[in-house]
Amino acid sequence: PSAVPPASAEVRHRWDGLARRVRDWQFAYYVRDAPVVSDAEYDEVLRALAALEEAHPDLRTPDSPTQRVGGTFSTDFAAVEHVERMLSLDNAFSAEDLRAWADRVQRDLDVAGADLHHLCELKIDGLAIALLYERTDDGPARLVRAATRGDGRTGEDVTLNVRTIATIPAELAGDPAGHPELIEVRGEVFLPVEAFAALNETQVRAGRAPFANPRNAAAGSLRQKDPRVTASRPLRMYAHGIGALRWGAGGGTGVQRQSQVYDLLAGWGIPVSSHSRVLTGLDEVLAMVESVGAHRHDVEHEIDGLVVKVDEIALQRRLGATSRAPRWAIAYKYPPEEVNTRLLAIEVGI
Ligand code: NAD
Repeated sequence: PSAVPPASAEVRHRWDGLARRVRDWQFAYYVRDAPVVSDAEYDEVLRALAALEEAHPDLRTPDSPTQRVGGTFSTDFAAVEHVERMLSLDNAFSAEDLRAWADRVQRDLDVAGADLHHLCELKIDGLAIALLYERTDDGPARLVRAATRGDGRTGEDVTLNVRTIATIPAELAGDPAGHPELIEVRGEVFLPVEAFAALNETQVRAGRAPFANPRNAAAGSLRQKDPRVTASRPLRMYAHGIGALRWGAGGGTGVQRQSQVYDLLAGWGIPVSSHSRVLTGLDEVLAMVESVGAHRHDVEHEIDGLVVKVDEIALQRRLGATSRAPRWAIAYKYPPEEVNTRLLAIEVGI
């Protein structure tokens, strides 16, 4: 192996400064639901950290922000362990980035691109949630716990608040004989764009600071100490994956693709997005990137990208994951558009 020189004291100092900044910003964003910088600025500093680590791999320690999901912070909520780790997503910022990801997937799997199915989904700008449904008797599987992502291993228990979200079923629909013994449904809780505008207007009129964007409004609404406040906010959720899944004796269905999992979830009454598409070659994916980008404001929720996933579950398993993201998925991020809430404040006169 070629000898890469260790980082000099000066480079290490620079890395420390950037990492500290990122951790402070994470605290503001994940714990206080009140970011102090734009996502674009945050992403840029994170990329600068990654570039330093690329040049000096000795800086890339397991607790680096580039290697972790979110941050570890203690909050007012009880901590709960996820049955299976909740990961983040790697990013692509250009067509070239997407192509590089697709090439790597093909190389690792040793399959031709035309043989792969890409499940393309809107990247909902909300906050991740894990819903645990369990079946303890002959009845239907019931929602027993809901948790935020946290650092991916441990999240916050927000069960009481999630129970106030009207479209999240307290028990799965359909024949209980077909329900799993345990399933962790992963999804995104979001505030529809129209509801966000209305909420911010109410906030400002009441003399409170408006939320920076629908994502922070959703997070701030879900992470309330008083579930009645959450209940007053029209939050919604779309599932975008599953974690642990245990079928009972003789149970199990022949699902082989994530898109089929969504059909299963929909049959059980779990909301799934109607915007997902299964596409083959990368050209089709790039065409969807274009068309979604051109129509991003026609959707009921805020979008910050397009998530491309390998649809075949067996291939997902073969590709596996890094410490922070699956290798079988990538998030194409659109250029940022921050909502100018300050203007709103001026408009209504505070
Ligand atoms: P991310 O938001 O880039 O992507 C991962 C998340 O996307 C998943 O956890 C999931 O919840 C969500 N998601 C939405 N739609 C999905 C779909 N269809 N399929 C799968 N997942 C979907 O990464 P992150 O780790 O959640 O957060 C990092 C990002 O958050 C940063 O890139 C930045 O934009 C923002 N951030 C900003 C600040 C700030 O100060 N402004 C601070 C921390 C993080």
